Amino acid sequence: MTINHHPSEESIARYAAGRLEAGPALVLSVHLAGCPHCRGLLRTFEAVGGALIEDMPPAEMAEDALEVALARLDADAQRPARRVSAPQQLAPRLGDVELPAALAGCEIGPWRWMGPGFRLSRVRLPGEPDANILLMRISAGRKMPEHGHTGREFTQILSGSFSDSNGRYRAGDLAEEDSETEHQPIVDRESECICLAAVEGRMKLQGFVARMVQPLLGF
Ligand SMILES: [Zn+2]
Repeated sequence: MTINHHPSEESIARYAAGRLEAGPALVLSVHLAGCPHCRGLLRTFEAVGGALIEDMPPAEMAEDALEVALARLDADAQRPARRVSAPQQLAPRLGDVELPAALAGCEIGPWRWMGPGFRLSRVRLPGEPDANILLMRISAGRKMPEHGHTGREFTQILSGSFSDSNGRYRAGDLAEEDSETEHQPIVDRESECICLAAVEGRMKLQGFVARMVQPLLGF
C-alpha cells in the first residue's frame, strides 16, 4: 500500500505529546498503524520530547516536591488517556465492513441513511463524550457533504478513494484540513469509499446533510 497523504508534522508532534483531542488522536492512531513513515516521525518526536525533559537543569527541590509530583501523577492517572493504543482484539466489524483494530474499544452505531449514497455511523470513545468521530460510507461517484469546520479535520481512508483539489486519497491516506478550507471531495467511480473522520472543535455541515447529521451528533 503506497501512502501519499500524511498528517502534518505538527499533528504528529501534538499526538506524541498527548495534546491532540481524543477524536483526532484515534484517527491518527489508525493512520500510524499502517504508516511506517509517520511511525518514524512519532519516534523522533517522542525521543526529542524525552531529551528536552532530561536536558532541563535540575531545579532546586521544594520541600513538598515529592508530594506535589505524586499528586500530579494521581491526577494524570485519572485523566482519560489522550493516546489511543490498539487493544489486542480481533478487528471489529460494522455489518460487512471490517474496521481498524483501534476501534475495538469503541461503541459503534449502526449505519444510518443520510441521503442517496451516503451513510454514517457515530463512533463513541469510552470516557470521551465530546469526541465527534464518524464513519462515513459514500457510494462511488458521489460528492461528500460540503462542509467547513471550526478546527482541523482528520479523515483516514479505510477503503475506496476520493479526490479533491489536493489530489487523490486512497486507503491508508489521511486527509488533514484546516478550518480555512471549504472542500467537497468526490468519491472516485471505481468503488464506494469508507472513511473514519474526526474534527477538533465542531463540524459545520451545510444544507440538507447538516439538518440530518447535526441532531445525530447532538449539536
Ligand atoms: Zn503517514
